[in-house]
Amino acid sequence: MSSVNNEREEILRMSGVDPTKCMKCGKCSGTCPAFDAMEYHPHQFVSMVNKGNIEPLKQSNAIWQCLSCFACMERCPRDVKPAKLIEAVRLTVIREQGMNHLESENVPCMLDPELPQQAIVSAFRKYSK
Ligand code: SF4
Ligand code: SF4
Repeated sequence: MSSVNNEREEILRMSGVDPTKCMKCGKCSGTCPAFDAMEYHPHQFVSMVNKGNIEPLKQSNAIWQCLSCFACMERCPRDVKPAKLIEAVRLTVIREQGMNHLESENVPCMLDPELPQQAIVSAFRKYSK
């Protein structure tokens, strides 16, 4: 399997998204509040990841401009979840920059008594994938 295919499969694994479900209706991009700021729009992420065209997405400002508001996920009639793909591409770049996965043994020292347990569980779920 080529490295392009490997990267595509890894992003699909991390995100849990099946981009082949997309019917290219554009509703995700139509509802995105960061549309004007993003070089690539949510529907383009879905299409480009599906084709294994991931490098331009990694180089793009779009992964940092996305607000993670999940409006694109709410609006999608096929439950594709473009925001999850964007998050997976962003995490891939962060890891290439040398940031590690969140390890369970590092969690206790980050704990703050005021921190809601839900935030801890969410962070662990997100950064341990
Ligand atoms: S999660 Fe990101 S891509 Fe999706 S609608 Fe919000 S800003 Fe746009
Ligand atoms: S809303 Fe869903 S089905 Fe429509 S283009 Fe976006 S990801 Fe594809």
